[in-house]
Amino acid sequence: MPMNLAKWIRHFGMTNRLDRPEPEWDLPLALDEKKRTALAATLAQYQLGDGGGPCRLIARDAERLRAADEEVRKVIDLWFAEEAEHSRLLAGAVRRLGGTFVEDSFAFRLFNRSRRTFGAQFEMKVLLIVEIVSTAYYRLIRKHCGDLPVRQMCRLILRDEAGHIAFHRERLSACHPEGVSWHWTTAFFLLGAACAGFLWMSHGRWLRPLGVSACDLFSLCRQGLAHFHRRLPSSSKRKSRQHLPGKKKESRSIIFREGRVPFPMPSIFTHILENELPASFVHRDEVVAAFLDIQPLTPGHTLVVPVREVASLSDLPPEILTHVTALGQEIGSAIRAADPSVTGINWLLCDGRDAGQEVPHIHLHVIPRRKGDGLRFAGKCATAGRADLDDWAARIATGLGR
Ligand code: AMP
Repeated sequence: MPMNLAKWIRHFGMTNRLDRPEPEWDLPLALDEKKRTALAATLAQYQLGDGGGPCRLIARDAERLRAADEEVRKVIDLWFAEEAEHSRLLAGAVRRLGGTFVEDSFAFRLFNRSRRTFGAQFEMKVLLIVEIVSTAYYRLIRKHCGDLPVRQMCRLILRDEAGHIAFHRERLSACHPEGVSWHWTTAFFLLGAACAGFLWMSHGRWLRPLGVSACDLFSLCRQGLAHFHRRLPSSSKRKSRQHLPGKKKESRSIIFREGRVPFPMPSIFTHILENELPASFVHRDEVVAAFLDIQPLTPGHTLVVPVREVASLSDLPPEILTHVTALGQEIGSAIRAADPSVTGINWLLCDGRDAGQEVPHIHLHVIPRRKGDGLRFAGKCATAGRADLDDWAARIATGLGR
């Protein structure tokens, strides 16, 4: 699939600008002094790197890349406009926490020098890695900061970072349709480890008082890097294709070259779970998430979705299904508690296209019912004969081995 630059122009320029409530900076601050100073210091330092510095590509050959194509230039400018927005949000947090702005630092100078020196390809790679590592950072800040407006800010930034990472994934898939090379992979993980290590070296002293350990940061960074890499076209596919006779060798030097993506696209629910699309979540953990159905059969209609993307119920490990149903049960009770007009709940799980499954990522519908809501799943069914019922009972019992 070719890289759809128009889609990204729409995303950065329009869709992602909707529904962005400003963090409630004026809420009373209830942090103890140690935590407040640490949080202010780490965010002030981050403010400089995340959009506070030169908010554009600064590699020596960056202009050549921008000038190559009007759409490429637009996408890059819109992407950096989001970085500038992060700087503005972080400045709001630093002001709220009474911190001091940072104008220069060794880490910042090193970061810029590495971006400048090795060309635009390398700079794009560094920026991608910084987005992945920053995602780990903002997730930890969101979890440990203890301040609602800062959490609201992290939510906005994390949403943007998810878009940036998806953008890089599509860019690289178009750029390396036959898989990234082993040296690309090695450099990616080495740079990722270096970036995470550098982040801990420069921010560890402020993250520790917030309750964040080095292990928390490294394991989230590792997960983020591995997850990103797993979803790129795989190099084993590349190898097998290279052996096809008559295969034309393609140049991989252009950053935004169009190409095919030789791997199945993630489901719309995976995009939601990775914050690449908006959703109204009621719960999320490592195994299962729940969010409101965008076309509710009745108000409150919620979907319970395992994080692991499997299309069919038979491929879902039973322990995950247990999580799904346990959460479905809790959500049902929560809906009843939230709305006294709800007097019943339907569960619906469509397994297979002929069962009405539209999204090939198994999920449980939790549908609130109210007296007289008029929702009907089917017309009146004929009463089955006992022989048919017994026959089915026997066949299913045999399948269950009972
Ligand atoms: P199913 O027919 O069981 O596969 O159900 C798919 C459900 O996903 C439908 O009820 C859709 O309304 C719902 N759905 C599709 N896209 C979204 C989305 N972006 N956010 C929330 N729900 C969605």
